[in-house]
Amino acid sequence: MFPVLGNIHIHTAYSDGSSGVEAIARDAAASGLDFIIITDHHTLRGLAEEGYHHGVLVLCGSEINRRKHHYLALGISEEIAPDDDNPQAVIDAVNRQGGLGFIAHPFEKGSPLVMDGITYPWENWEVDGFCGIEVWNWCSAWRDGVQTLAQGLYYAYLNPEGPITGPCPEALARFDLLTQKKRLTAIAGSDAHDWHIRRGPLCRRIFPYSYLFRTATNCLLLPAPLSPKLQEAKAQIYTALRRGRNIIVNRLAAEADGFYFCARAEAAVALPGESIPFTPGMRLVAACPKQRPRDVTLILVHNGHILATLRHNTLDVPLEAPGTYRLEAYLKKKPWIFTNPVYIV
Ligand SMILES: [Zn+2]
Ligand SMILES: [Zn+2]
Repeated sequence: MFPVLGNIHIHTAYSDGSSGVEAIARDAAASGLDFIIITDHHTLRGLAEEGYHHGVLVLCGSEINRRKHHYLALGISEEIAPDDDNPQAVIDAVNRQGGLGFIAHPFEKGSPLVMDGITYPWENWEVDGFCGIEVWNWCSAWRDGVQTLAQGLYYAYLNPEGPITGPCPEALARFDLLTQKKRLTAIAGSDAHDWHIRRGPLCRRIFPYSYLFRTATNCLLLPAPLSPKLQEAKAQIYTALRRGRNIIVNRLAAEADGFYFCARAEAAVALPGESIPFTPGMRLVAACPKQRPRDVTLILVHNGHILATLRHNTLDVPLEAPGTYRLEAYLKKKPWIFTNPVYIV
């Protein structure tokens, strides 16, 4: 297994971000990332710059739609017209190009301090054909947690990760509900713009790209090393995303080196995103070997319900029923690791 770390949902100066692709890639390299995916609003201008920059694989998609139903469209080669009122048309257009897409920040609540409290929710859950959900959008989560100027000042200057409690609970609940019927992929997005917030005494560059690249990160589990060739590497990243071979890691808490979570049968093992038939005697096992047992809290979620909570850095429990199983890990109470589900069928 070859884990690669990547940040998805980045805005450059081609839309409302503040830096160019080259500078952002340099920040990503300095932050230890293997890949980044640019998603500017309604433009694929970054596509011409796809490739390796400073050793980081740069891929380019687009964020589509305006007032609501923001959709991260990846693996497309032609721009797609927004259709706020008919998100299915956008999803279908992405799929017709052989792309894949993610519902972005579906349940954000907004903050009166930022953009006058505007939110861009996802309302239509009758849609189909999307690859997954951005269950943790760092900037949305931050805004949701900052509702007063006092909170804004405190968090902006003294405790920037204070408002962050983990993935959006409503988005995770929806993900758990939908994955009872079909396979989807949960991802984290930074929504990096390199904002400059100005509101009364609050004037701060809160989230430079280099900061966000160390927050919630996608750790894709590749079956082979990432290719040095653009087209091969691109196919590897998008295939892993389609298959849900992803573990979300908040690198501000710690790296996830050595972490694993799988379902184990007599002659087979299933990692996050994989399916395996239910057989008697199966077990679910996990470990965070680099952390002290008492610092870690593991939460095992079965079909969206908490099955077990352990104050330990390892888990080894019998698997008694089919369904989806995913693992959450908190490190010293900080939200840390959120796996995609293993599907026991
Ligand atoms: Zn958006
Ligand atoms: Zn965005």
